[in-house]
Amino acid sequence: MRRCELAILPGDGIGPEVTAAALEVLGVLAGELARGGLEIAWTCHPVGGAALAQGLPPLPEETLRAALAADGVLLGAVGAPQWDHLPPAERPESALIALREAMGVYANLRPASGRGALGGRSPLRGEVAGLDLLLVRELTGGLYYGRPRGREGVRPGRRAVDTMAYGEDEIRRVAHVAFRAARRRRRRLTSVDKRNVLETSALWREVVDDVHEEYPDVRLEHQLVDSMALRLVASPASFDVVLAENMFGDILSDEIGGIVGSLGVLPSASVGDGRGLYEPVHGSAPDIAGQDAANPLGAILSLALCCELSLDRPDLARRVEEAVEGALALGLRTADIATGRRGERLCGTREMAGAVAALLADRLGSGAALGEIYA
Ligand code: NAD
Repeated sequence: MRRCELAILPGDGIGPEVTAAALEVLGVLAGELARGGLEIAWTCHPVGGAALAQGLPPLPEETLRAALAADGVLLGAVGAPQWDHLPPAERPESALIALREAMGVYANLRPASGRGALGGRSPLRGEVAGLDLLLVRELTGGLYYGRPRGREGVRPGRRAVDTMAYGEDEIRRVAHVAFRAARRRRRRLTSVDKRNVLETSALWREVVDDVHEEYPDVRLEHQLVDSMALRLVASPASFDVVLAENMFGDILSDEIGGIVGSLGVLPSASVGDGRGLYEPVHGSAPDIAGQDAANPLGAILSLALCCELSLDRPDLARRVEEAVEGALALGLRTADIATGRRGERLCGTREMAGAVAALLADRLGSGAALGEIYA
């Protein structure tokens, strides 16, 4: 039997709650994976504020070692108000930047769908129903990594600098990821930049055009990031694959969270040349942490992406997605996606996770009949 090891990094705030939800679902998947000849094991490691609280750095060496040795990494979220006074390089969030760089995961895939009940809280109502896009965000370059970076001087003459820099190879490799994804979808790619102002964007556009020559069957359009922000709200269903550099992608993906109705339902996969890093799009949400109020679907759907991309079981990924849709069809809603409509039932993180796990077990033929659970 083949063996596969996942490193689990729950992190801070709601991170441990949504990670526990994903692990409940993974527990159900483990049986099915074993039947397919894959033994799955996982170990948990501190990261972010959880590591700082133990007197460790935000990304402890042991955690990094486990992440690099694993076949895939599942992360909850990092960041907590009690660490906000620290300089950026010492804050919990610095662990994410360092981990992505060390794992070489340069392409962040963020699928979003308005299908079915996921769009229930969208402020756009009708327009979001047809939304089915994949945001491909460059993850290890641009402003978040560029040098020089820092502050100098004293009040009232302080100065700060960040650097946005991109090499041609960094743009080319993530563009290939986006074009390949477009080929598996509706063959349309929108590349986002700010070519009218930024040198990096002018290069971005030239390189994406070059890469396009290898994918003549994909329709490419370029879009300035400001008008992209507008078009996303005006006609979200008109996009297929969207490619953006690091900061533009960071901002647009939160906008997509708003369009879908909640950040809590959005998953992500970060991939590169090796293993993948899977995490929900949302942060540690300290405002609702520890209340059993977090939506675990983003984390559970991130596990589905792990099944597809790291465990090579797209069939199981679909079963997990169907189980999520099934839980929503039963009317279950965490507070962030509740609309108060008839047929909905407000539930907590644990109940939502339990329902998805039960529905999945039912679909895989390994659980109690659903009628017994929701009689
Ligand atoms: P956030 O994503 O944590 O929360 C934004 C809003 O969405 C909050 O009102 C929150 O309650 C809600 N929300 C988020 N996830 C939810 C879920 N699963 N279910 C229900 N509601 C949910 O963003 P923020 O408030 O700007 O940041 C909080 C902390 O998280 C900060 O320390 C920030 O640096 C960190 N952060 C971490 C990551 C990450 O780990 N990948 C990403 C973004 C922010």
